[in-house]
Amino acid sequence: MPTTPLLIGSEIYRRSSYGPKHPLAIPRVSTMLDLVRALGWLPAHQYVDSPVASPEALARFHAPDYIAALMRAEATQQVTPAERERYRIGADGNPVFPEVFRRPATSAGGTILAARLTLGGGVVHVPGGGTHHGRPDRAAGFCYVNDAVLGLMAWLDAGLTNILYLDIDAHHGDGVEDAFRDDPRVFTLSVHEEGRWPFTGALEDRAGGHARNIPVPAGFNDSEMAWLLHEAILPLLRHLRPQAVMLQCGADALEEDPLSRLALSNNAHRTVLRAVMAHAPRLVVLGGGGYNPWSVARCWAGLWAVLNGHPIPERLPPAAEAVLRGLSFHRAAGRNPPEHWFTTLADPPRPGVVRAAVRRAAAAALADLPARPPAMA
Ligand SMILES: [Zn+2]
Repeated sequence: MPTTPLLIGSEIYRRSSYGPKHPLAIPRVSTMLDLVRALGWLPAHQYVDSPVASPEALARFHAPDYIAALMRAEATQQVTPAERERYRIGADGNPVFPEVFRRPATSAGGTILAARLTLGGGVVHVPGGGTHHGRPDRAAGFCYVNDAVLGLMAWLDAGLTNILYLDIDAHHGDGVEDAFRDDPRVFTLSVHEEGRWPFTGALEDRAGGHARNIPVPAGFNDSEMAWLLHEAILPLLRHLRPQAVMLQCGADALEEDPLSRLALSNNAHRTVLRAVMAHAPRLVVLGGGGYNPWSVARCWAGLWAVLNGHPIPERLPPAAEAVLRGLSFHRAAGRNPPEHWFTTLADPPRPGVVRAAVRRAAAAALADLPARPPAMA
């Protein structure tokens, strides 16, 4: 890698919650940061405090009236029935909470900055980013803005013309695919659970040619992800030779996640990242979904280890273990957490049969690829 990897984070995530009953009641970015610091993996020169995107910066993708509604919701802690209906704030799992403007604006500010910091090459991890469902004029799927779209636009605005957005969250990256439906400079590839919300991203959905979707069946395992990596993702990277890659690493495709039925171990995420890194002159790694606090923190800390070439320890040192033991989780999985959630970063691998549907989807994703966009930057 040409430069030292940077991690863009913020303390806003530590005290912010979507509310006690919401899947995002749990701490995620703050736990990941505590964990990598406890491991000695985050010296001050690699950490950047995320800026908060201004309303003007958000307006590159979002409607000004929607941004104003988010700011009003934060200031008043309520929305009118008309605003709820129109902007889906306070509806559909997108609650009004104390940082309902600043938190998403921080995630956007981080990803926009990551795009700018990588213009000359390099790697930036933004665990608070990855809000891939956000729409220009409304909230969707716990996402109020779409930091990924804004970061990709920052790359485009700087002159890049050949970008790959790769999304391995359990849910379809619908907001990003739709944002670039008419812009072949951004190719999107999403691997997600079939038949799950938002119920888009079918195998046949190609958004005019420069999108691919690989819906995968329940129980999707490490061997199947490795198949997709070698039979779809890497061939696509070799074909496109993108100038930049944005990788959305939602942790909700992990076996222990309460919101999906996929069965990856976190080795799958690290394997994908390690392989993609070699083909990405500019790389921004985002977070995304992930609703089991232990799984999310261990997964994303492991990604940071890969970016830096740190070996994953067999057993965590006491300070790191204490971070994980300090978590609580008010769901079934939190009642009796297995010991390895406290003492390790790497899950036991979860290999399995590579099912025919996965093989077929990989082959279909490579059919009729568009020509590589001309590189003008
Ligand atoms: Zn998700």
